[in-house]
Amino acid sequence: MFRKTKILSMLVCLALLFTVFSAFSPKEEAEARTLSQVEADLKQYQDLLTKLQGTKSQLSSKIGDLDKQSSYTSQQLNIYIDEIEYLEAEIAITEETIEAYNLKLAETEASITIEEENLAYYKDMYASIVRHSFIEGTPSYFELLFESENFSDFLSKVDNLNYFLDYTDTIMKEIEIVTEDLETKKANYESAKQTLSVYQAELDTKKTDLEQKKAALEQKAHDIGTSLAQLKDQYSTSDARINEVRVKIEALKKERTALLEVNADFIWPLKTNFRISSGFGWRSNPFGGRGTEYHSGIDLPAPLGTPIYASNGGVVTKSQYSSGYGNCVVIKHDDITSTLYAHASRLAVKPGQVVKQGEVIAYVGTTGRSTGYHLHFMIMVNGTARDPIKYLPKR
Ligand SMILES: [Zn+2]
Repeated sequence: MFRKTKILSMLVCLALLFTVFSAFSPKEEAEARTLSQVEADLKQYQDLLTKLQGTKSQLSSKIGDLDKQSSYTSQQLNIYIDEIEYLEAEIAITEETIEAYNLKLAETEASITIEEENLAYYKDMYASIVRHSFIEGTPSYFELLFESENFSDFLSKVDNLNYFLDYTDTIMKEIEIVTEDLETKKANYESAKQTLSVYQAELDTKKTDLEQKKAALEQKAHDIGTSLAQLKDQYSTSDARINEVRVKIEALKKERTALLEVNADFIWPLKTNFRISSGFGWRSNPFGGRGTEYHSGIDLPAPLGTPIYASNGGVVTKSQYSSGYGNCVVIKHDDITSTLYAHASRLAVKPGQVVKQGEVIAYVGTTGRSTGYHLHFMIMVNGTARDPIKYLPKR
């Protein structure tokens, strides 16, 4: 008892599962299905295919856009990389130049120190001459006169003293000029160095700015790459799904063909002895008028009421009277092929009816644009009339 209940609940579960699955996907029962079920499935899958193809083409256009963005980004990145390289070279040259100015400044400062030492030396010398004269007492012209052996000696002693003082003074003035010159040079070097430092700071700012832009762009390139990979993934999924649906559609079409009992070979639509009164193609006007007309089928004369048979299995898409064809039946055999039977005296089928090959569908007459009892028979492929003789067995 317990066992039976368990089996029953399992069956209920399975039934539920089946219901859920069949609600989401077209029915795929193994048992034979009716034509309308197959047609419904076919329509559902054909709609799905259209939708999937739409999605695929959207994905394709998004991928195209991102590919463009990606190549633009990498071009821009290369520009930044080039600019940064240029700036780095410029910064290196500037640094070298500043270093050269530092060396010149050091040399100039050393020269200034030497000149200052020289000046100090001469100042000392001058002072010592002055001090010597002061401590020893500046010899008065009178004293110099007494110490001198003669007037010429006196003049010589006075000259010597003045000469030394003048000489030292001249040298000190020269040193001062050289030092001033050196100070000017030093100031110029410092000013140039200052200008270069400002330039270097500008270059550094530019480089930092570019590096930030480059980093942002690299992030963008990475994001684009991620999106592209996702889209390409979706694209191949969608492509695979489209192929699955196509396979399914082909299978459904085969199922439909089997249900319609469409055979590879067509049969003659009349069974009695008959002849072909008018073939396919250009012919003279059968109504006695002038010129020629294109005959889209074959004419088979037969007595009134002779049965007309379906040339192949299919669905009746038309069974009605029209002024040209008179009473006329059209049978659709597959997506592209159909047959037409015109000028009947009476119709034996209704639109939507499934007919088998050889089934009676109408009876020979002369309704519509006709000159006598006959069947006008046509085979249409993709909407174009073909010569039926090429499809019918040899007689
Ligand atoms: Zn005809």
